[in-house]
Amino acid sequence: MPQSSLKQSSLLHDSAPRAQVLVPYPLARAYDYRVPDGMNVSLGDYVRVPLGKKETVGVVWSLAGDADLDPSRVKFVLKKYAAAPMTEVQRKFIEWVARYTMADPGSVLKMSLSAPGALAPPKRARLITPPCQIDAVPSNSLVFSDSQQQAAASLTKLVAARGYSAVLLDGVTGSGKTEVYFEAVAEALRQGRQVLILLPEISLSAQFLERFERRFGVLPALWHSEVSPAQRRTVWAGVTSGVTRVVVGARSALFLPYANLGLVVVDEEHEASYKQEEGVLYHARDMAIVRAHLGNIPIVLVSATPSLETMINVKQGKYHYLLLSSRHAGAKMPEVQIIDLRKAPPGRGKFMSPLLQRALQETFAAQEQSLLFLNRRGYAPLTLCRHCGYRFQCPSCAAWLVDHRKQARMQCHHCGYSQQLPRQCPECSAEDSLAACGPGVERIQEEVTSLLPEARTLILASDVVTSPKMINEAVRQIEDHEVDVIIGTQIIAKGHHFPDLTCVGVVDADLGMAGGDLRAGERTFQLLHQVSGRAGRGAKPGRVYIQTFMPEQNVIRALAANDRDRFLDVEANLREKAAMPPYGRLAAIILSGADELKLDQFCRALAQRAPRFDDIRILGPAPAPLGFLRGKHRRRFLVKADRSIAIQKFLDEWLALLKAPSTIQVKVDIDPQSFF
Ligand SMILES: [Zn+2]
Ligand SMILES: [Zn+2]
Repeated sequence: MPQSSLKQSSLLHDSAPRAQVLVPYPLARAYDYRVPDGMNVSLGDYVRVPLGKKETVGVVWSLAGDADLDPSRVKFVLKKYAAAPMTEVQRKFIEWVARYTMADPGSVLKMSLSAPGALAPPKRARLITPPCQIDAVPSNSLVFSDSQQQAAASLTKLVAARGYSAVLLDGVTGSGKTEVYFEAVAEALRQGRQVLILLPEISLSAQFLERFERRFGVLPALWHSEVSPAQRRTVWAGVTSGVTRVVVGARSALFLPYANLGLVVVDEEHEASYKQEEGVLYHARDMAIVRAHLGNIPIVLVSATPSLETMINVKQGKYHYLLLSSRHAGAKMPEVQIIDLRKAPPGRGKFMSPLLQRALQETFAAQEQSLLFLNRRGYAPLTLCRHCGYRFQCPSCAAWLVDHRKQARMQCHHCGYSQQLPRQCPECSAEDSLAACGPGVERIQEEVTSLLPEARTLILASDVVTSPKMINEAVRQIEDHEVDVIIGTQIIAKGHHFPDLTCVGVVDADLGMAGGDLRAGERTFQLLHQVSGRAGRGAKPGRVYIQTFMPEQNVIRALAANDRDRFLDVEANLREKAAMPPYGRLAAIILSGADELKLDQFCRALAQRAPRFDDIRILGPAPAPLGFLRGKHRRRFLVKADRSIAIQKFLDEWLALLKAPSTIQVKVDIDPQSFF
């Protein structure tokens, strides 16, 4: 019998309806399943299906099957779950993100289903009520300034109008932005809808939660990496059914399948941590805009140092703009002093200029608190042998080992490799020949202790305070003035309010500028501006000291003059001239493999096949700035195109021309943020 008639005859025997089900695995499309008698499935239904030898949860993606498939090879849907189906907006969102980031839709779906077991009916013993149920919204009991009042009224109006709109809420640290956008949240809640507040994970502090509870009478549902599996299941179920009204979470909270989302807030929208750098490479702020657009709902971006992208969208009229002008309750902006390290250098083996030392002494004498900022963990970023010049390097990365003296270990900050702090040089066996080069926070603490032996010091860095609980404890110690000098990495830049903190010292303002990253200047400005904002938030005025070798840099001058807008104008100009984002499009292709020779061969072959277009430039292949990471060599192409170009289509077609061997990993990063 010819094959076509065979297929036809078996089709005749197969009357079971088909559905295409998307499963949370890196698969490019939804697969066909047969729906058994007596089961009725609709679009968005959560179902259980066989997949290879396993079973998995999936979502009904289409009700039309592929007629050409041999029915005997199509398996049955095993079960339909009782949960409310995934909304059409959510399904569209998943597809949009997959197309944009060039990820498999299944991989994006996986982020929506990140609460294993949530669909199973709860066992009676642990019948838990979903968090953050709000029936009646309490009215606001805070006294607002005029500026706050106006901003809150404008936001409430936008939310009340429903429909898509994007707005930037811009205001300095301490201007009361949170309380203002809480009024937008209240309006969405009064409409009976759900709200998502995205925050960088590090900002999910007890202080924030307290403020939320004070306003709404309950705690929000939380969604971040430390939420336990049991809590995840409850939140997921509450979000899906619509019972849970407000989710406060890190970037992954964006992918929860909300039943009735009515407002998205992206707090600290400029934060680099909104970019996910593993798995599906997406930028949560940008995808939140997409989510709001697809759902036809308002979105509020919030920042004291808005990103250049967002400011340009404001200038082009795409986003509304609300400014909170003054610090709340009369606190003044701190005075900024630039310390030119060429003119006032630190003493031998020290890292603080005499000017900064004096400031610390005066602050301590006045019984106020100081904060020293250095974005570098450990004791020293490099150790070398004075005898033979040997430098301690990670065996699997092109990176120096960082001396962590407190743990008596040396660590690689890229792969986690660590070894004991050696006594002698592994190369020349000289003893006492090892020298620590440059400072980390531990070394600054040592310098503070020798300067102010009486002062109580505290280090705040991600390897020292490793959980929100520890951060909260550190915050309490500072609030209760149990410490005099805080030494910290960027973990301290975040919105805490310390009334006795009046002096901030930036130990090395030039640190973030190295490396040639597109956004190095912008990031440095944002970070140092935020750190500066830690000073003088109470009744006492604050002072900020910034140590630099490059006082003439745009970033440093803008910080000294407290002139953010001028800084952004200069940056925007530079980017526009170079046709860099947001004026042009950028994508990175990172190729990695253990065999350097094969990797280079493949990269050259790929470069030769690159389609030529006038308005698309391909840079590379070049070694990635971190050319060797976790035992793999890394090469990078950068693709630069005009804004009007669909860069994904170009990449798709190019990469399809040459299949990578299984030993070489190819990763595409659309709108890359970091250039490691
Ligand atoms: Zn040596
Ligand atoms: Zn390493």
